[in-house]
Amino acid sequence: MLENTRQNGTLPPAPRAWRHTALLLTFVAGTVSCVPPTQDEVAMGNEYAQQVERELPIVRDPDVVRYINVLGDSIARVSDDRALTWRFNVVDQPEINAFAVPGGHIYVYRGLIEKTNMMSELAGVLGHEIAHVTQRHSMEQMAKAQRANIGLSGLCLFVPSACQGVAGTVLQVGAQAGFAKFSRDDEAESDRFGVTYVTRAGIDPRGIPSMFRILIAERERNPSSVDAFFASHPIEENRVANTEAEIGKLDPALLKTLTRDTRAYQSFKARLATLPRTPAKR
Ligand SMILES: [Zn+2]
Repeated sequence: MLENTRQNGTLPPAPRAWRHTALLLTFVAGTVSCVPPTQDEVAMGNEYAQQVERELPIVRDPDVVRYINVLGDSIARVSDDRALTWRFNVVDQPEINAFAVPGGHIYVYRGLIEKTNMMSELAGVLGHEIAHVTQRHSMEQMAKAQRANIGLSGLCLFVPSACQGVAGTVLQVGAQAGFAKFSRDDEAESDRFGVTYVTRAGIDPRGIPSMFRILIAERERNPSSVDAFFASHPIEENRVANTEAEIGKLDPALLKTLTRDTRAYQSFKARLATLPRTPAKR
């Protein structure tokens, strides 16, 4: 996977720290008034993906890697009009979380997959994360931040509670950059596009509100996981209602034809459950 994430790199053969700084400088120059072009987004995304994968344990089991990439690609290919090279990764940690790196790198935590009941729930998460990339939310945030003269990059977090953990981890490596949560508007937009994308891929979008319900139930079961953000921003409840309203606009006859779960998904989950766990890095 690491080789793959590097395949689009057009970076000069210089020490990594230098390359990182050079890329950031490019972005500072390039994002003063507009969102940078796809080529820059991909180069920067690849660089961040390498950082993420140095810091976070990634599941390398070929069956798991293959499955999540086939599922992710089935959604991305009906969503992405920029012909990005998508990489879907399972982070070998128990958190319930997912995030996207610009350019097409999606990370879903093992803990999230373990909480799903069916394929359409993971597909919904992937659709949401894919939408953050296709709608260029990180890149817009970065451009905005540059205008405000703040060094800032963005990782999307499907579940904001773990934001600080991921941000802190990556920040240890890339001290120049900060990581921000997306706005409510960006989240709502990704939810809407997520519904559209999975539906186009032939997958039941009801997996999206279903996944939100799982998160809400989990929060109730584990109040200690509720941070200040959750306490003051009961976003999931809104997101259930909003995604259900979006799904309500679809033709019921079409909905009936869409796939909720597959045997392959259950095999993927079962395979993941057999793999030894990577202890969390401190
Ligand atoms: Zn999001």
